[in-house]
Amino acid sequence: MAENTELLYMKDVESNYIREFDASVIERGFDYVVLDRTAFYPLGGGQPSDTGLLEWQGGRAEVKEVTKKEGIRHHLVQNPDLVPDKVHCVINWERRLAHMKMHTAQHVISGVVYDLYKARTVGNQLYHDRSRIDFAPVKFTDEMVAEVERKCNDILVGGAKVEICTTAREELEKNIDAQRANLDLLPKSVKDLRIVTIEKFDVCPCAGTHVRSLSEIGKMKIVKRENKGKDRERITYELVG
Ligand SMILES: [Zn+2]
Repeated sequence: MAENTELLYMKDVESNYIREFDASVIERGFDYVVLDRTAFYPLGGGQPSDTGLLEWQGGRAEVKEVTKKEGIRHHLVQNPDLVPDKVHCVINWERRLAHMKMHTAQHVISGVVYDLYKARTVGNQLYHDRSRIDFAPVKFTDEMVAEVERKCNDILVGGAKVEICTTAREELEKNIDAQRANLDLLPKSVKDLRIVTIEKFDVCPCAGTHVRSLSEIGKMKIVKRENKGKDRERITYELVG
């Protein structure tokens, strides 16, 4: 699928901060273009896609969504046939940075809930202004939710560094709790994993975008708790200041 496009945001945490880049168009579809390289995040893993602009001398096209089903498709508002071969690409940074903060906070919350209650993260959906995570097996009380919020904020305030690297699965399996990192849910065929590490707290395979330090996130607030079945609970959180 996506082999034709170099993903500029994958390499390390600094690459998650690429806001602008140059690229060549290698395919034009009915409503999309495929580029030889991109820093746009495609929809997946609970994180919405980036939006932004393709610019060139005398023109521009708006990227309204990016998908990765058959290649990394940058879906455009305008006709892709009007886009020249060489473009300058600009990501809607406010939206992307909000997703990076939300996503990194999600790792913290998932880690805290596992440590406190041995409940695993079984689903998540991030947005720029609020996000939700589903946990199982667990039955939350108000006290438990307050404890999660308190512990998460203690960790966020600590401002730990976040690192991203690629590691052989074998190496990782020796060093971490496979259930805590949801490692056992990844297909056996996956041998090399992109690892997101929060210093002294969490190691988790993930292909999303993240901030370089927890100090960028501020604090989190759990604004809603819902029961989603026998042993399944959903919390909704926001980031505040
Ligand atoms: Zn992640």
